[in-house]
Amino acid sequence: MFDVPRPSLPVSGSNEVFPVRRIYCVGRNYAAHARESGGDPDREAPFYFMKPADALMPNDARVPYPPRTSNLHHEIELVVAIGRGGKDIPVEGAPAHIFGYAVGIDLTRRDLQTNAKNAGRPWDTAKGFDHSAPVSAIHTVAEVGHPASGRIWLEVNGEPRQDGDLEELIWSVPEAIAELSTLFALAPGDLIFTGTPAGVGPLVAGDIVRGGVEAVDEIRIAIAGKRGQ
Ligand code: MN
Repeated sequence: MFDVPRPSLPVSGSNEVFPVRRIYCVGRNYAAHARESGGDPDREAPFYFMKPADALMPNDARVPYPPRTSNLHHEIELVVAIGRGGKDIPVEGAPAHIFGYAVGIDLTRRDLQTNAKNAGRPWDTAKGFDHSAPVSAIHTVAEVGHPASGRIWLEVNGEPRQDGDLEELIWSVPEAIAELSTLFALAPGDLIFTGTPAGVGPLVAGDIVRGGVEAVDEIRIAIAGKRGQ
């Protein structure tokens, strides 16, 4: 009836594309960011939210400044691409379900998120808006292994904003997959944003945003519009 495009990501070193089914995100998964968000990193079990698959934006995209916010924030994150589905996956078995890794920016309307938290309302408008999920190409496990340490960073217009290490993840990638798979049956094409280190902050039109995960990739986006708009 309609020609609806299937969201997908390029696979590094290949002509194949990775078709994206669902985008899951882990909340507050680095201790310092949990504290800056008003949480207690020692006591909270992992929790999850989702973005629609068509919120994906490719590397080097121009991202429109979204409507209905005056506090758009960046969150640099390691992204896991699931290649084999399953439910109730044990932690030790989780790596076998991973197709590869990418770098993503969990764009967030922080003002709407704060309002939602205060009112006990859902986060969809804060997290799942159009263009809210820029993600790099996917790098296969054969290319990058299973990175469990290494720098994760983001800068805006060349100024450092976020700087952490994958070693600081509260819930490791296998643990986050295992727990998520008790809530949803995972399937090939699922992406998991694994959380962001401290230093989240505002973006304005005209900003050039660059970030990366050592041993995986870098991602660059520009916030469209006239500078400071
Ligand atoms: Mn996030």
